[in-house]
Amino acid sequence: MQAEVITIGDELLLGQTIDTNSAWMGEHLALSGITVKRIVSIADDAAEIVSALDDALTRSDLVLVTGGLGPTRDDITKAVLAEYFKTPLIMNEDVLRNITEWFNGKGLTMLEVNRQQARMPAACEVLDNPQGTAQGMWFNVPDSNRVVVSMPGVPYEMKGIMREQVIPRLQDRRVLPILCHRTILTQGIGESYLSELVKDWEEGLADKGVSIAYLPATGQVRVRLSAVGEKARECVDQEVGVFQTMAGNWVISDNDETLAFALGRELQTQGLTCATAESCTGGAIAGSLTSQAGSSAYFLGSVVAYSNEVKSQVLGVNQEDLKKMGPVSDTVVRQMAEGVRRLTGADYAIATTGIAGPDGGTESVPVGTVWVSIASSNQTWSKCLQLGQHRGRNISRAVSEAQAWLFRILRQDKSLR
Ligand code: ATP
Ligand code: MG
Repeated sequence: MQAEVITIGDELLLGQTIDTNSAWMGEHLALSGITVKRIVSIADDAAEIVSALDDALTRSDLVLVTGGLGPTRDDITKAVLAEYFKTPLIMNEDVLRNITEWFNGKGLTMLEVNRQQARMPAACEVLDNPQGTAQGMWFNVPDSNRVVVSMPGVPYEMKGIMREQVIPRLQDRRVLPILCHRTILTQGIGESYLSELVKDWEEGLADKGVSIAYLPATGQVRVRLSAVGEKARECVDQEVGVFQTMAGNWVISDNDETLAFALGRELQTQGLTCATAESCTGGAIAGSLTSQAGSSAYFLGSVVAYSNEVKSQVLGVNQEDLKKMGPVSDTVVRQMAEGVRRLTGADYAIATTGIAGPDGGTESVPVGTVWVSIASSNQTWSKCLQLGQHRGRNISRAVSEAQAWLFRILRQDKSLR
C-alpha cells in the first residue's frame, strides 16, 4: 500500500511551525508496513487543497491530511473536503454531545463556532478525537479502494487519531503486512565501528529475511532489526540475541528504550537511588531523568553547581583544590559527586564539570574537556572526556556518557553482589 501526506496550514509555509506531523506519520506508517512516497505542505486555500488531493489520488491508495480543522475562519479543510466528495455538512448529534462534554469538562463556555465543529460531511466516517474538538474524518473514495483521512493539525491530537483509529482500521482491512521491529540501543561506539564488529553476521541477514538500520544520535547508535511475515517475530528475536552476544557491553537495551529510561528502570529494579551535581551539563542529566514518568522512585535531586561558590559552599568542594586544580579537574569532580551523595543520601551520585564552549578553553583545559564522576557508598570513579567544539553537542554527549556509565556500573555492581 502506498501513501501520501498532505499537511495544510499557512504557518507551515511561513516557517512559523515546523511540519513535524508528516515526519511522525512517515516513521509510524513505515513501522506498520506502509510506504509514504510523497509529503506536501500547502496553504489554507481551497484551490490548493483540491489540487493536492487530485494529484495525490492519481498515485496513492491512502492520503493522510492534517490541519485546518479548527473553529477559526482560516480553517477551511472540512468544508473543502465536503465539497470535494459532493456531500453535505450535517449536524452530527454524537459529535455535538462529545464536544459539549469536552467544554463542560473543562468548565469552558461553548461558542457557536464550536457548535459548528459538530457539522460533519455526511459521507465520512467520524474518527473520534477525545483530546480536542476537531474530529477526524475517513472518506472512502467512491468506486475505488482509495481512502482520504483528514485529521487536526495539533500534533498530539493527530497522533491519538492515528494510533487509536487509522492504524487499527488499516489493520482491519488487512492491508498491512505482518511486521516486526526491535530496536537495540548501543552507547559509546560509533556506527562504523559497530558495523565492522558485526560485519559477517550483518552480511548474512538479508538471506534470513531480516533488514537492519543504523540510527545514530549523539554518543548513541540505535540498531533496528525488521522482518516481514508469519515468522517475523521469531526471526527478529533470534537475531537480536546474536547481535547482543557480539556487541556485548556496548548494548544498553534491546527493547526500544531511551538511555534515561533504561537507567531509571535499572535503578528502580535494584531498589537504588541517584542524585546529580552538575556544572557544565546545567541540570540536563537531572532533566532527562525526571522526564521519565515515575522517576521519583529513584531520583532524589540535583545541585546545579555552576559557580565555584556553589561548588564549595553547597557541595563542600575544598576551596584550595578549586584554586590549585581548577574547577574542571579530577579532584573537583570527585568531590562534587561525593558532596551531592552526602547531601541527598543517594546510593549513587553523578557529577560533571567541563568546558562546553565555544569559549573559555585554555591550553591545558581546552573546549570540550569534561570530567565525569560517579560516587557510590564504597567507591568513587572519574574520567575525562575530550569532546568537540559545539556547545549543544558537548552537553548532550556528556549527559549520555554519564548516564551510560552509571548504567554500566549498576550492571557490574549487581553482578558482584
Ligand atoms: P484545531 O484548530 O482543532 O486545534 P486544526 O486542524 O485547525 O486544529 P491548525 O489550526 O491547522 O489545526 O493547527 C493547530 C496547531 O497545530 C497549530 O499550533 C499548528 O502550528 C500546529 N500544526 C499544524 N500543522 C502541523 C504540522 N504539520 N506539524 C506540526 N504542527 C502543526
Ligand atoms: Mg491551520
